[in-house]
Amino acid sequence: MQVPFVDLRAQYASIKDEVDAAIRAVLDDCAYVGGVPLDHFERDFAVYCRTRYAIGVANGTDALHLALRAVGVGADHEVIAPAHTFIATAAAIEMSGARPVFVDIDPETYTMDPTGVEAAITPRTRAIIPVHLYGQPADMQPILEVADQHDLVVIEDGAQAHGAEYRGQRVGGIGHLGCFSFYPSKNLGAYGDGGAVTTNDAELARRVSQLRDHGRISKYEHSVVGYNSRLDALQAAVLRVKLQHLDEWNRQRQRVAAWYDEALALAGLAPPRVRPDSTHVYHLYVVRTATREEFRSRLESEGISTGVHYPIPLHLQPAFRHLGYRIGDLPTSEAAANQVVSLPIFPELTRAQVESIAGIIGELLREGVVLPISDDGTVLQHSDEWWKPA
Ligand SMILES: *Cc1c(COP(=O)(O)O)cnc(C)c1O
Repeated sequence: MQVPFVDLRAQYASIKDEVDAAIRAVLDDCAYVGGVPLDHFERDFAVYCRTRYAIGVANGTDALHLALRAVGVGADHEVIAPAHTFIATAAAIEMSGARPVFVDIDPETYTMDPTGVEAAITPRTRAIIPVHLYGQPADMQPILEVADQHDLVVIEDGAQAHGAEYRGQRVGGIGHLGCFSFYPSKNLGAYGDGGAVTTNDAELARRVSQLRDHGRISKYEHSVVGYNSRLDALQAAVLRVKLQHLDEWNRQRQRVAAWYDEALALAGLAPPRVRPDSTHVYHLYVVRTATREEFRSRLESEGISTGVHYPIPLHLQPAFRHLGYRIGDLPTSEAAANQVVSLPIFPELTRAQVESIAGIIGELLREGVVLPISDDGTVLQHSDEWWKPA
């Protein structure tokens, strides 16, 4: 059996006519940057996120960078981010001139641990970037409270969580600004790079849209030195078509995750707990094992592709060596980086495929190739519960 990690071909086949028509309309119109397709997508994406504004940009990294610039973050400032995330979260902080300050994650949900945030605040801190990792919102309420007490800006990294909800609110509209990536494999993916910034604040929206377009206030008048970070019309047209399917695709991802949950319930592979006040849109379905390399190579030999998100916590990345962190500084992130494995997930994955994957994993458990992990990250001894045949 061959199961890819993601399957963009199946998705394109299901919307080919709509997408091809939208692309043709842009080609016929010969307006490739900005214009009506961008306006329409920005309007629809703001409605989707339940925010007043959405500003299309070139990619998710730029979304974060421009959001930081729009709130005035720069040299001599510090910005707090979790260590267990994709590097772009922190690269954007460096791009702004500020210094990333890493905090640990919650061991059960893998999102930023709010209790570590307050301790990381210094007089230089200006912003906090919670990441809605794997598709599950970070615990925003305590983060917003700490931010409010210290007069800090909260910028959501929603690159993996388009459409996820926290206490009834869609991500992107919970903090001061929300940042999204439309990289092709994200839950909402363009056919190239793309990103967006969402906000309810008119002044911040104005600054982001100026910064993405050379700091323009009119064709040849520039109020600030900006960037060229626009979302082009072809990508906007594709995204607008795909946005109409996003809720359905997210529901299908949730269904796939429920099948995995059921099939792996007794395996002791500790998928992140979903908080009861949130919805999880399963950009990734992640499990843990103490024997990851073995686990991955055995699945690979059965035709099952897997991923690791992410193998090196940001505080230990060579790129951030200058920040002076050491092994042991953020133990929960370090344990996750050593043990997480992402199983295939995409809306079109079938129940039969999930059950075959779970069956292979069951074999590996019986053979002792896979060692499960307890909730506190320690390796469990084989117990009768999961390996005895029913
Ligand atoms: C994908 C991603 C980004 C960056 O988005 P790009 O569009 O690739 O620049 C940022 N943060 C997280 C958590 C991501 O997964």
